[in-house]
Amino acid sequence: LERTLVLVKPDGVRRGLAGEVIGRIEAKGYRLVALDLRTPDAALLAEHYAEHEGKPFYAPLVEFMGSGPVVALVAEGQRVIEGFRSLAGATDPTAAAPGTIRGDLGRDWGLAVQQNLVHGSDSPVSAAREIGLWFPAL
Ligand code: ATP
Repeated sequence: LERTLVLVKPDGVRRGLAGEVIGRIEAKGYRLVALDLRTPDAALLAEHYAEHEGKPFYAPLVEFMGSGPVVALVAEGQRVIEGFRSLAGATDPTAAAPGTIRGDLGRDWGLAVQQNLVHGSDSPVSAAREIGLWFPAL
């Protein structure tokens, strides 16, 4: 069975939407295998977002992601990597389809693309790497 790393980003936790996101994951039938609330430090975020280093949105993104607690979780299920990304919807919440987490709950607060509520691993290779970073004991 496949596993993926999901983050409820600081905007999602601040807005009280962690339970809603977890509920959608469970309602879809995925199983939670790890769950933690924590404020990630700069070193973890630098590794997590290494592929974006050098892009204009990188520094503000890392700062935002460290601005408060996030819910990190590992979900397991058939095709969960792709499945969670379709639950999440398009990266930009103003473009995300209704029925998706970002489409239903995301708004353009001025930083819509940065503050898009959730992260989900985008491939088996990223999932293994990200699960290792956030949950080294797994
Ligand atoms: P994630 O990997 O977080 O699920 P994604 O794969 O949909 O998101 P990526 O292109 O990998 O999007 O970007 C990673 C994150 O960087 C986005 O979720 C968003 O928070 C931020 N981001 C991406 N593009 C921009 C942008 N143009 N301006 C601000 N933030 C951005």
